[in-house]
Amino acid sequence: MGETIFTKIIRKEIPAEIVYETESVLAFKDIRPQAPVHVLIIPKITEIESAKDLSKEKHSQLLGELFEAANHIAKKLGVFESGFRLVLNSGPDSGQEVPHIHLHLLGGRKMNWPPG
Ligand code: 5GP
Repeated sequence: MGETIFTKIIRKEIPAEIVYETESVLAFKDIRPQAPVHVLIIPKITEIESAKDLSKEKHSQLLGELFEAANHIAKKLGVFESGFRLVLNSGPDSGQEVPHIHLHLLGGRKMNWPPG
């Protein structure tokens, strides 16, 4: 998989407002927030483009870490109790823009359903 803007954020070559970081996961505020809380949670490895590349054998631990990070960040940013939405866009029809798997964590307002 090639480099994306997220690779540069992982390497700290371009700035981002980082809210959580471990050895394997990075989370930072979305540059175009769609809600009062809008954070992108990404693995630091760059080989997973989207959900289609995931397998239980290879990625169970990483997926656990991503969802654990989401809970941690939701608590830190004050939306754990009020609720939040996790979005994983995968592929062209979903509107995925950056080919490096990421969870959107959205909160701080009432969400609509169905999504657009
Ligand atoms: P996708 O559409 O791929 O699911 O989401 C990609 C997200 O990355 C978008 O919400 C977009 O605003 C965000 N984004 C794109 N470039 C940058 C950037 O350089 N910095 C940050 N913080 N977010 C970005």
